[in-house]
Amino acid sequence: MRQWEKNIRTVVPYVPGEQPNHKDMVKLNTNENPYPPAPGVKKVLENMDADILRLYPDPTIKRLVQELAHYYKLEDDQVFVGVGSDDVLATAFLTFFNSDKPILFPDITYSFYPVWCDLYRIPNVRPALDDNFHISKEDYNKENGGIVIANPNAPTSVYEELSVIEDIIKNNQESIVIVDEAYVDFAGASAVELINRYDNLVVVQTFSKARSMAGMRIGYAMGNAALIKALNDVKYSINSYTLNQTAIYAGVEAVKDVAYYKEGIRKIITTRDWSEQRLMELGFSFPKSGANFIFASHKSIPAKSIFEYLRSNNIYVRYFNVPRIDNYLRITIGTEEEMKRLFTFLKVFIEADQ
Ligand SMILES: *Cc1c(COP(=O)(O)O)cnc(C)c1O
Repeated sequence: MRQWEKNIRTVVPYVPGEQPNHKDMVKLNTNENPYPPAPGVKKVLENMDADILRLYPDPTIKRLVQELAHYYKLEDDQVFVGVGSDDVLATAFLTFFNSDKPILFPDITYSFYPVWCDLYRIPNVRPALDDNFHISKEDYNKENGGIVIANPNAPTSVYEELSVIEDIIKNNQESIVIVDEAYVDFAGASAVELINRYDNLVVVQTFSKARSMAGMRIGYAMGNAALIKALNDVKYSINSYTLNQTAIYAGVEAVKDVAYYKEGIRKIITTRDWSEQRLMELGFSFPKSGANFIFASHKSIPAKSIFEYLRSNNIYVRYFNVPRIDNYLRITIGTEEEMKRLFTFLKVFIEADQ
């Protein structure tokens, strides 16, 4: 072994869902939004003068920070913006999780968390979700170096009532608690309303799901000014110019159009409720979804064979071959037409099996 080989930081990377690009595919595997971004986003992109790309973007991302602060009724110094919430979360882990005590997060949750722990060498303990995929909040009443909770959780879609989240924050005032709310728009109350009451809370959200802009890469964190400053100090120590000019302009337009945002959420929830009904009729069970996807298991057919059958018919859903959830499919809510095509194929496959 060469000397330098020992000095390479090795890490087992996160594996993102596949991004196939076939004609006529139905892509329900990475929780993207099937509807386009707000019309103002399209307009600003069409009218963009390439000359602005000559200059560096604003490192403070002021226009977008102000727009988000206004929407969430916060001060500008309570908002941090990054390149997707993955970037925001990675920065937050690096900024806040520097204790020798383990950080806590559920055994089944966003699979990026253990990757960051590995990368940054953060000790961690993972309390098991109960049989219904809910958190047992008592599990978080022990010494820890921080807590991260996805609410609604991925890939289970389960939403915990805000009172459960608040109890965890309240009982851990010596730790930073990160609440990853990538899907909260499809569920219920956000922990944002707790920010001015708990100075140990960081709420992370994204433009990738409800705001239909996964391709633009914008995420944000909200918390008290001291925590946001700490995030910015770390950001400025790695890369000052994170968001590009285009993303800043497009992001502002997306936040401004509140009516379009709300209507998009409503459409997905309607299709989700209808899809849950159809899945039930076909013999699937699933926790009540608080997200733009359903985490479903069939009573007789293994998830893996359904996954493979759908894939061979150009319909992509997500399958995780890991303990406790290896008989589940995570199905993103697409348009009504896409879901109808999914159900046509599912019905054929399931009826052939009976
Ligand atoms: C999708 C998702 C994210 C990451 O979203 P970005 O596209 O990086 O903003 C973060 N957390 C959870 C739980 C997610 O499902």
